[in-house]
Amino acid sequence: MAATTFYDLDHFRADFPILCQTVHGYPLAFLDNAASTQKPADVITATKKFYETGYANVHRGAYWLSEQATRQYEGARERVRAFINARHVEEIIFTRGATESINLVAATWGQTYLQAGDEVVLTWLEHHSNIVPWQMLASAKGLTLKVVPVDDEGRFLWEAYQSLLSSRTRFVAVTHVSNVLGTILPVKDIVAAAHAVGAKVLIDGCQAVPHMAVDVCDLACDFYVFSGHKLYGPTGIGVLYGREVLLQNMPPYQGGGDMIASVTFEKAHWAGLPYKFEAGTPAVAQAIGLAAAIDYIESIGLSAIAVHEADLLHYATQRLAGIRGLRFLCPAPQQTKTSVLSFTLDCAHPHDIATIVDRYGVAIRAGHHCAQPLMQRFGVPATARASFGLYNTREEADALADALERVRGIFGP
Ligand code: PLP
Repeated sequence: MAATTFYDLDHFRADFPILCQTVHGYPLAFLDNAASTQKPADVITATKKFYETGYANVHRGAYWLSEQATRQYEGARERVRAFINARHVEEIIFTRGATESINLVAATWGQTYLQAGDEVVLTWLEHHSNIVPWQMLASAKGLTLKVVPVDDEGRFLWEAYQSLLSSRTRFVAVTHVSNVLGTILPVKDIVAAAHAVGAKVLIDGCQAVPHMAVDVCDLACDFYVFSGHKLYGPTGIGVLYGREVLLQNMPPYQGGGDMIASVTFEKAHWAGLPYKFEAGTPAVAQAIGLAAAIDYIESIGLSAIAVHEADLLHYATQRLAGIRGLRFLCPAPQQTKTSVLSFTLDCAHPHDIATIVDRYGVAIRAGHHCAQPLMQRFGVPATARASFGLYNTREEADALADALERVRGIFGP
């Protein structure tokens, strides 16, 4: 698709076949993009074409088809490298998703380099994926987890972070953007402060990469992770970026085919990067689909997407603010967040809200969003969450607001 100079929303919507359907007789308004995004035809076609004309296992075939599949798979790796501006293609490891990427780092770097008494710093804004692997490691090794608090607007508290850093801090694992609130964290400064005390930093970029350009060299982070399915790409594919020197000095995550240079019954020698971390047959079609997704969003432009989503956030915030009894979890200023709105209604449980608005074709999330500590921080068991993507419209925000008025009508006075 050719680069576009204005935001041709109708055209972009037409790129997503799933969006043209009705649900319960209403046009589908898909507002659960923080959980997973829909797929453009370019991604579907690239995947289908691979299966129809290019499919074979990669790396080990001496025949033409396998060479073609390998070329496409490695081309996808290069596409990801360029997307996040990593220095070397060997620094891009394909995983099943962000969760696996984080577990990989905890189980390899963490297992090797952390020891009893060391401190790992997290924030209250983390998804369970960036809490539980560190908890498991902490209980196995006697580490201490320190958690940076957030203020009532869901903002990362810089002074508190600095006060938690010390010579005992060995690792900092932070989200780039909160999946519940949309809060954008000052990750570049977080990295610099952690490095000043000698700690390594992992950034969970799941909720950042669909909304903003990311440059891992500029951030100077040690690890950066994200999932393909939140970036308009397929499920089953994720990315771990790691600085080459760190990856080289980490043991493999899993053993098996493709990650070895040689094997005898006495000993195995590991393959070089990135293959050392990719045991078994990789998700070839999914990697190709992810590359197509990156091509697609870059053809629109992340800055154009960000402007569109900011407009939607502003509009939806105003529409929802007019609903009696609706409380936003964090009324953070627009410029410090991405297009996510978490809210409660005084008259209905979030699960009831999501079930009823679905009857009007509106898909939103309800629950703890895999962020139970954050729910505890704000004293709620769950919220309803609307999250906007590149294809959403003001009319869909209207549909949400209208459906919420109906919820009020059913439950409220
Ligand atoms: N981190 C954040 C901030 C997320 O929002 C999510 C998913 O919701 C994850 C990690 C986990 O991603 P996945 O389930 O694709 O591994």
